Amino acid sequence: MTAPIAATKSAAAAAPDAPLFDPKAFRLTDEQAEIMSRARHLGQTVFAGRAATYDREARFPVENYHDLHKAGLLGIAIPKALGGLGANYQTYALTAAEIGRYCGATALTWNMHVCSTLWSGPLADDLEMDAATRAEHARRRAVHYKRIVDDGAIYSQPFSEGGAAAAGGVAFGTEAKPVKGGWLVNGKKIFASLSGHADYYGVLCTEMAEGEKASRRNTLYLAVPAKAEGVSVVGDWDPLGMRGTVSRTLIFKDVFVAEDEALMPRGVYFKAASSWPHMFLTLSPTYIGLAQAAYDFTVRYLRGEVPGMPPVKRRMYPTKQIAVAQMHVKLEQTKAIWFQAVTEACANPTKAQVLRAYAAQFSAMEGANEIATLAIRTCGGQAMLKSLPLERIYRDSRCGSLMLPWTAELCLDRIGREALYEPGESDE
Ligand SMILES: Cc1cc2nc3c(=O)[nH]c(=O)nc-3n(C[C@H](O)[C@H](O)[C@H](O)COP(=O)(O)OP(=O)(O)OC[C@H]3O[C@@H](n4cnc5c(N)ncnc54)[C@H](O)[C@@H]3O)c2cc1C
Repeated sequence: MTAPIAATKSAAAAAPDAPLFDPKAFRLTDEQAEIMSRARHLGQTVFAGRAATYDREARFPVENYHDLHKAGLLGIAIPKALGGLGANYQTYALTAAEIGRYCGATALTWNMHVCSTLWSGPLADDLEMDAATRAEHARRRAVHYKRIVDDGAIYSQPFSEGGAAAAGGVAFGTEAKPVKGGWLVNGKKIFASLSGHADYYGVLCTEMAEGEKASRRNTLYLAVPAKAEGVSVVGDWDPLGMRGTVSRTLIFKDVFVAEDEALMPRGVYFKAASSWPHMFLTLSPTYIGLAQAAYDFTVRYLRGEVPGMPPVKRRMYPTKQIAVAQMHVKLEQTKAIWFQAVTEACANPTKAQVLRAYAAQFSAMEGANEIATLAIRTCGGQAMLKSLPLERIYRDSRCGSLMLPWTAELCLDRIGREALYEPGESDE
């Protein structure tokens, strides 16, 4: 067993970082500011000091999850009446961005965990359901929420399969066959962050009775207990960045999943995916945090204020000043569109809001890496040593635009098509 990781003294002793989005300037409530500040404090004083070890060892941030539980942050999107913090979409996104400043892998995996409560919670509340279905959903999700709030249960969100399903093109290949009291699940999920560490895998799969054809309308969102018979984690995990996410391959072989493990009622995931598109923007906060971290590091480095480095100033060179100005402009542009997009997330957004969400995702994912790239060039050789966080931020930031279903390429693809064609239009 590996030893627990402690926070470093230098991180704990530093002056508190300013909020990523100043609550007054961005008109946030005191409650939002408090939740964000809770996450920022944990990130700066604890997570930042552990991040290098998780990265180096490609090890899941187990200790950070204990701390997130203690701070109430595992239940951020769970209603207050059920023991959570009752955060809405915007509050969650802003808080996740704060965590991303200090440990990308923690923020990204926390996103997968929180989405199980955000999607089954505020998002599902926005979708049409008959009264009986809603009541049953409320009863079921309360069971999931209790596990999280009381026991610190961790949920993940494996949907990628290596085919076109994760991009939303076809039905998921992972199948759930209805049986008495639940389903038998068979399939494979690749890049399943939190593999071997989540207590429940929130699997997207296709409900298919014997002889039935697969349809995206029959997508189910099931919490498969990690310890269930027939669940296995295979393959290694030695990637370029986001190494602490431990995104290995999950195999499901005739896994029985009880009816009450459904995270959404039948048909609701399909409705959500088509009418609540911002549900796929939730991977971006991590990268807003990384963009800010790359910028903050550069300013501190050029001012000779990076802990552990000699206090050598490099800020007097015009080329450094121009580079910092370019980074600043890029950061402000990225944060501005992203803030607007996460603020207007809702059911049935307008076409302009959907295009803005794609543009915000593209800007966050590509922008974080552009800023980190400029940071490396500007700070120079000593700043890219593994003893400092910048090279990790750079590698982590490169992974953002690969995240399905809204990869950078797919965002461009959709913006171009949807800007030029109205639904149903063609050139035939
Ligand atoms: C650090 C990390 C953590 C991850 N964690 C998770 C997780 O927890 N859960 C999860 O489900 N997945 C996760 N993923 C997986 C991720 O979402 C992708 O599925 C994965 O990177 C595999 O993508 P690919 O590039 O091989 O996909 P491919 O399907 O091979 O696609 C390749 C590229 O082609 C483009 N493309 C695909 N389809 C289309 C289309 N119809 N039109 C135009 N272009 C298209 C896209 O830009 C895509 O990036 C993670 C990935 C990383 C890197």
